Amino acid sequence: MAVLVTGGAGYIGSHTVAGLLERGEDVVIVDSLETGHAGAVRGGTFYKGDIRDRSWLEGVFREQRIDTVIHFAAYSLVGESMANPAKYYDNNVQGTLVLLETMQRNGVKRIVFSSTAAVYGEPERTPIRESDRLDPTSVYGETKLTIERMMRWFQTSHGMEYVSLRYFNAAGAHVSGQIGEDHRPETHLIPIVLQAALGQRSEVAIFGDDYATPDGTCIRDYIHVSDLCNAHLLAIDYLRNGGSSDVFNLCNGQGFSVLEVIRTVEQVTGRAIPTAIHERRAGDPAVLIASADKARAVLGWVPQHRSLATIIASAWQWHQSQPHGYGSE
Ligand code: NAD
Ligand code: UDP
Repeated sequence: MAVLVTGGAGYIGSHTVAGLLERGEDVVIVDSLETGHAGAVRGGTFYKGDIRDRSWLEGVFREQRIDTVIHFAAYSLVGESMANPAKYYDNNVQGTLVLLETMQRNGVKRIVFSSTAAVYGEPERTPIRESDRLDPTSVYGETKLTIERMMRWFQTSHGMEYVSLRYFNAAGAHVSGQIGEDHRPETHLIPIVLQAALGQRSEVAIFGDDYATPDGTCIRDYIHVSDLCNAHLLAIDYLRNGGSSDVFNLCNGQGFSVLEVIRTVEQVTGRAIPTAIHERRAGDPAVLIASADKARAVLGWVPQHRSLATIIASAWQWHQSQPHGYGSE
């Protein structure tokens, strides 16, 4: 029986596919390659297509014997979601609906889902826990929360069990240096600062230095992509062992400011990073730090790459060896 990975050619998906293959799972990948890369898929059976294409997806489920689904495929740019909500409802919510219906028709009863810190919106306390208020401040976060609720009803009505993993800030790259982060456009802080270290950007814009934080810049909880991968493997085991549907934060439990990230990149790379202070980016909470106590207690998940310097060093290895990412495929 195979694990079907939607969005397996993307950043977090490709690392999870690598982890599944490393532990000997049969893996089927479906990806439109809209934001992912064929070169990021290092094995498994690959199908190029869009999960919203009902008959195509049905064909994949008929051809393969699927036991569990891991669902990464989505759009995930907050700003774009505010400019074009329909695009996000269509891909994230409608795409997931087609996937869940296809799973149901084919008797597939387990799904691990990529949720996000964005479901919380402005946090009511630090560290954020899973039971805290859910009040997204972006269309993107709203679509992910809608999907969590949709999965709950499929569980109630059809017994389809889910694990929803709310990632905080994914960063870093695979230890092999062969796969890493290559978003186009890149919006995430760590790859942007590393591109500046490579001379590909003239400076890094710091979005606001007047937040109520010690150095005035926003604080985030960065988690290594390989630790995210391991959480997916544990979530599959949990569901296969009869675990009931649940939601988990995936985070480091430590926060680092934008300036701390930039200073750490300077230390790791030995290169100076030119910066400029810009306006705040709309919708950015000042501090996002969460607790992963629940994932530790229930899934047995213990992040292995917790230091910011280690996370950045692994991303730097990837950016140095592949300065143009997966190239112009
Ligand atoms: P990504 O864009 O690199 O990967 C998404 C993949 O899904 C891409 O390969 C894309 O081609 C594919 N895809 C999108 N829509 C599709 C569709 N309709 N049919 C088939 N394939 C489709 O993104 P990522 O950074 O790897 O994020 C993966 C998931 O994790 C997303 O759901 C995202 O919302 C979530 N997430 C990411 C972060 C982060 O820090 N990167 C944080 C929280 C949550
Ligand atoms: N950020 C920044 N300059 C950039 C990109 C990001 O100052 O060029 C800040 C952003 O405002 C946020 C933090 O870095 O406070 C992390 O942003 P990212 O987009 O990586 O992740 P997010 O927290 O939005 O998911």
